[in-house]
Amino acid sequence: MIAASSIKVSKVDKTRIGEVDLNNIPFGKYFTDHMYEVDFEDGEWKTPQIRPYQNLSIAPSMASIHYGQAIFEGIKAYKNPNGEAFIFRPHDNFKRFNVSAERMQMPTVPEDIFMEGLKMLVGMDRDWIPGNEDHSLYIRPFMFSTDEMIGVKPGDKYKFMIILSPTGPYYNTPMRIYVEEQYVRAVPGGVGYAKAAGNYGAAMFATSEAKKKGYDQVLWTDAFEHKYVQECGTMNVFFIIGNTAITPDLGAGTILAGVTRDSVICVLKELGLTIEERSLSIDEVIEAHKSGELKEVFGTGTAATISLIKELRYKDYVMSFDVASWQTAPEVKDRLNKIRYGLAPDNHGWMMPV
Ligand SMILES: *Cc1c(COP(=O)(O)O)cnc(C)c1O
Repeated sequence: MIAASSIKVSKVDKTRIGEVDLNNIPFGKYFTDHMYEVDFEDGEWKTPQIRPYQNLSIAPSMASIHYGQAIFEGIKAYKNPNGEAFIFRPHDNFKRFNVSAERMQMPTVPEDIFMEGLKMLVGMDRDWIPGNEDHSLYIRPFMFSTDEMIGVKPGDKYKFMIILSPTGPYYNTPMRIYVEEQYVRAVPGGVGYAKAAGNYGAAMFATSEAKKKGYDQVLWTDAFEHKYVQECGTMNVFFIIGNTAITPDLGAGTILAGVTRDSVICVLKELGLTIEERSLSIDEVIEAHKSGELKEVFGTGTAATISLIKELRYKDYVMSFDVASWQTAPEVKDRLNKIRYGLAPDNHGWMMPV
């Protein structure tokens, strides 16, 4: 472990927290007083630093803005009623970060550099963790190549950073989803399982086409047949058919292995549902809808936790749901929230104290 004392700290003279209304915060717009920064050069990680949140100076030739060697994570910190701060399953995000790094030919970040920096940064800016219901501190670790050279090859220099953004409810209203069958997000052998920056830029065209048609997001389908459902925007997706919760399996490497997905599977089991991680075709979803067995459809992800899907459209077939009558998804969300906000025991060891 690096000792926390080996992180070089320079603090703000005066906090900016008074400039932000923590009761009314749009997602991803405000950032806390400090940021964490570690450079990789000459084959090694240099001294980690925490310093005031500020702009970076970059060369126009910086490789990552040309060729996309850039990855990120999304984690949340919460406050319990005693005002103590906890981070939800950060170790899982740390591991996934390095899976993304390997896929993108970037150096992996040592566990101590990731975790010690995370803890210290959140600890320093803990006053920025909002206390209200459904509010939290969004944590954004990211890494990008910083070589000042436009050659298509893995960089020699990288920057790993963590920034923090207080946040209110993300998608708080139930969503309308368009089942995509023209554009694709991921293919077997591709980078769909990595939280690589380019995946999100590449998804924007299809998403804005769906928005023009009045939908909030697309539900991606497989690249070959446009038949098997994958995931939704930055959320994994669950279908409750009868007493079984079905979510696409991670086998083909085309789906991001969500930490929320894993937590939701755990809670669904506790609620007595059968879980199936397997391929699920849109035809099967439609059959279940026609027979009345399709009970609930929802997305899961750190930003929103659980987003109910009130409408799902495939070609001209529209499935509308009375989300107000749903039992399971709201119960799962409530159970997860109680653990996160320290209102229920954390039997899984998900909450890391700061
Ligand atoms: C981040 C993300 C998710 C959700 O992952 P969590 O760990 O639950 O936040 C799902 N799909 C995509 C494409 C993502 O980027």
